[in-house]
Amino acid sequence: MPFDFDAVIHKQYDIVPLDRDFIPSKQVAKPHILWVGCSDSLTLETFTLDVLQDEIFVHRNLGNILSNGDLSSESAVAWAVDLLKVEHIVVCGHYGCGLTKSNDPKALYGWSKDIARLHKMNEEFLGEVKDKSDERSHEHRLEEIYTLAEAGWLRRQPNVKEAIRERGLQIHAFVYDRETNSAVRLVEIDEKRET
Ligand SMILES: [Zn+2]
Repeated sequence: MPFDFDAVIHKQYDIVPLDRDFIPSKQVAKPHILWVGCSDSLTLETFTLDVLQDEIFVHRNLGNILSNGDLSSESAVAWAVDLLKVEHIVVCGHYGCGLTKSNDPKALYGWSKDIARLHKMNEEFLGEVKDKSDERSHEHRLEEIYTLAEAGWLRRQPNVKEAIRERGLQIHAFVYDRETNSAVRLVEIDEKRET
């Protein structure tokens, strides 16, 4: 099932600096966090969250995509949610991600087909970048929408949905910024009202 960009593109969200103890360390050698990141993000998960290496189960691929129906991503989520029973899933995109910027899915044999759709929708909703100075904020917005869509997709998966309902599993959308070596949290306005 593809991303539901329609649902995300109209959503309002806040960009909140990430507190390094946002997910408190338990100081135990048992993973309670699934981290989904991009292969090229150069993000240090343990530094970003200030937890022990043993506390994080990491899945990385090109563009931190879970929704492509590939066995590797599906297995990682199933393992973390159903067997490890993690309490948090972090989907962490990063500003300047080559895959999100790219608009040529053919070169990647369909891996980034959702991103091609995102570019098309983005042009319709945000307009094309006319001014070079707008390029950075435009790219940031793309990455944010993309990461939120990924988190939204994850929340709709049956086993994730059940874990949210039955044991309070939390899904978080982060974007890492290499320039500041820090991450931000994307908090949907509705989500904030509920907490
Ligand atoms: Zn990337």
